[in-house]
Amino acid sequence: MSKIKHAEIVARQFLKKHKLKVPINIEEIAKLLNIRVTYASFEGDGAILYNGKAKLIIVNKNQEIGQLRFNIAHEISHFLLKHRGKIFNTHPGDEKPLYEKCADTCASELLIPRNELKRKHYQFNGDIQKLKNYFQVSEKAMITKMNILNLPYHNTFYK
Ligand SMILES: [Zn+2]
Repeated sequence: MSKIKHAEIVARQFLKKHKLKVPINIEEIAKLLNIRVTYASFEGDGAILYNGKAKLIIVNKNQEIGQLRFNIAHEISHFLLKHRGKIFNTHPGDEKPLYEKCADTCASELLIPRNELKRKHYQFNGDIQKLKNYFQVSEKAMITKMNILNLPYHNTFYK
């Protein structure tokens, strides 16, 4: 199994185990994992820090809510996928390393579970605005997932 596929399955199993429903309460997930979340002003998206057993996620608060939720989900994913060490997800200019892509995939599945998306895609007729409001994610996160699943969509402002 590819690492990307594995990352998606880890997210799906976590949602199933804890019976979590869309829209996903990302702070509840942090709580379930004993991870503290702090909002601060800094350059970058976020980070997860370890101090012994203590876990702390710092996210950049100067972002719209969808982006904020995704960034928290991304940092939680580093923990779920057992990525250790100080991993900061700003890599200006570089292509994202595989562990970052895996964290993105896991985060995306946490917030936009594939099966729920397939159902809602049908119900909302591929309308990105309705879908992103339903999942409470950014337009970018919504479109990325639609592209991965090869689902047609419309009504988008994101370029
Ligand atoms: Zn990262």
